[in-house]
Amino acid sequence: MQTLDNGMEILLNAMKKQGGNYDTAAIERAYNISRAAHEGQLRLSGEEYFWHPLKVAEIVISLGMDSESVEAALLHDAVEDTPITSEDVRRQFGENVALLVDGVTKLGKIDTATREEQQAENIRKMLIAMAADIRVIIIKLADRLHNMRTLSAQSTRKQLEKSLETIEIYAPIAHRLGIRAVKEELEDLAISYLDPIAYAEIEEQLEKNREYRDTFIESIKSRIKERMGDSVPNLSIEGRIKSIHGIYRKMYMQNKQFEEIYDVYALRVIVNTVTDCYNVLGLVHEMFRPIPGRFKDYISTPKSNLYQSLHTTVISREGLPFEVQIRTWDMHHTAEYGIAAHWKYKSGISGSDERFEERLAWIRQLLESQNDVEDVGEIVQTIKTDLAPEDVFGVTPKGDVISLPVGSTVIDFAYAIHSAVGNRMVGAKVDGRIVPLDYQIATGDVIEVITTSQADRGPSRDWLKMVKTSEARSKIRAWFKKERRPENIETGKEEVERALRQANIRISEEDYENLIKDLAERYQCSTADDFYAKIGYGGLIFSNIVPSIKDRFRQKPQKDIASMVSDDEESASPDGVVVEGIDNCLVKLSRCCSPLPGDSIIGFITRGHGVSVHKRDCTNVPKDLSLADEPGRWIPAHWSVTRSKSFCAALQVHAIDRDGILVDVSTAVLNMRIKMTAVSARQLKDGNCVIDLTVCVEGVEHLKSVISKLSAINGVLSVERSVI
Ligand code: MN
Repeated sequence: MQTLDNGMEILLNAMKKQGGNYDTAAIERAYNISRAAHEGQLRLSGEEYFWHPLKVAEIVISLGMDSESVEAALLHDAVEDTPITSEDVRRQFGENVALLVDGVTKLGKIDTATREEQQAENIRKMLIAMAADIRVIIIKLADRLHNMRTLSAQSTRKQLEKSLETIEIYAPIAHRLGIRAVKEELEDLAISYLDPIAYAEIEEQLEKNREYRDTFIESIKSRIKERMGDSVPNLSIEGRIKSIHGIYRKMYMQNKQFEEIYDVYALRVIVNTVTDCYNVLGLVHEMFRPIPGRFKDYISTPKSNLYQSLHTTVISREGLPFEVQIRTWDMHHTAEYGIAAHWKYKSGISGSDERFEERLAWIRQLLESQNDVEDVGEIVQTIKTDLAPEDVFGVTPKGDVISLPVGSTVIDFAYAIHSAVGNRMVGAKVDGRIVPLDYQIATGDVIEVITTSQADRGPSRDWLKMVKTSEARSKIRAWFKKERRPENIETGKEEVERALRQANIRISEEDYENLIKDLAERYQCSTADDFYAKIGYGGLIFSNIVPSIKDRFRQKPQKDIASMVSDDEESASPDGVVVEGIDNCLVKLSRCCSPLPGDSIIGFITRGHGVSVHKRDCTNVPKDLSLADEPGRWIPAHWSVTRSKSFCAALQVHAIDRDGILVDVSTAVLNMRIKMTAVSARQLKDGNCVIDLTVCVEGVEHLKSVISKLSAINGVLSVERSVI
């Protein structure tokens, strides 16, 4: 049985199997530090937490990764979940390991973000980290793989969430990076949670035929081996069963019966050279009848994830179809380990560095296409479509093959040739016939892009809706960004105004300017025009951020005042208060602070009694409204410019208790022609007195002049505004 006490042994065994050179001292150090830090933490399953980083490290080793990756895998949750800091890791394991751990660590909770935004931000952070060091994603994939293996301990909701994210994001990334084993296991695990019934059904089908299948594969294997004899050196043949997810896709998405799937059983033939590959293909076709249309040459045209092999489907003497995949050892390593093979087979195999660069180019491309996009939902969408597992192959009239994700249109094809071709495109012919621009390419289509010589023609904004690839989308955006700035600013402005109108958000000009200023800053635009332009060329979908703006202006009134919302110009209450977004409602100046025109004020939507207006600094108004119990009930208010009424203000006068002081104060008020509604005086023990009076004034400025006149009276010590 495995116990944590022989955890280090588990790693040493895994490393021995790989046969590489490891810095076992550093790995053991990481092991000890992480184990001590996670001491006492349990996983939901009840087992000790440290099993998780340990198992992740084991997977990372099995993928052939280097020592730094193994150290980072051991420490990957330590910074997030234990007192260990990034600085500790840097000091003890160096800059690289610290950056790896940091790249795998999730972002802290972003306050205002929705769960979807949070997910997208985390994914974006991961992509940026992985562009800097691709090992980040390999550790992240190992982390996700172990979490998926142990997902049964989580709640049903978490299981579905994680499975969905795995099948939409992580498995496609593994696919794109060519790490087959991880991709397939992630997919199968995800499907077992997302569609357990179908999963069980496929498992049962596979189990039912297992014995027969094993004998079948064995016999074919030996027949081929016999036939090849010594003519092909270093030949290896292995049987392979299609992954459950692969079968699932065919059964449930392409509506095929289990029996109709030709490649459930496959033989994989691995040889030394490309020439051997084609020789083996010839022999296999001699031995078994090939099914027409099922031969694919991914050696001359690699898949976009650089996968290379020859695929053919043939029929056995028993009438059972099976697939044969033929490849070299080099191609095999690439197919199994993908980008991870860079570390494992770094020494010895030439050309792999070039491929490594190609894979990195893809990530850079993906990130670049997102520089222009601030809308997080779209980022996730782009990743999903960009990583779509199937490719189609279009052919140029000259015979060049271009691989694109399924669903790509002729516009994608044009931009894949060159942005200048896309920008000047006016139409396309497929196999000689004119097709619409949203025509989706099928493999084998010979596509001729028709271009115009008018240099300034450019793409159409509608194309953004027709393209599938982020490459085409970002090239179209780039064109608009560069060529059409004034137009973009106009389009952006219109879009903002339209969206605000539709959402029934009405704000003052000043608020509008402040809003645009804030948003521009938030979306990294240096000016308002830049912000409008960004919306104009499609780099930001304004309607998607409207909900957060709505929040900011708390436009949504409570039910009992919903009827007060009107579309007219703002109108003031009899007291001269304008409550933003609400008209004709009962507005009361609150008794607790008696606001005056000129005071900064805020409204509170009461239950059934209209809006009560407070001074912004009233003790009954929370300092930070976002922390209020019901923040949505506080609503901006200001004083209307036109007003006629007077307001009551309470004043408290401290004075020396001399004869006639009360008369002097009263007279001064009368001389100012101000109505006084209440006055009272009391003696204090220190020989002074307090006079409380309520006066009617026109506003704050008026009151200030009253205060200064009263302060000038002989014996008055202070005059302060007070609570009525
Ligand atoms: Mn983890």
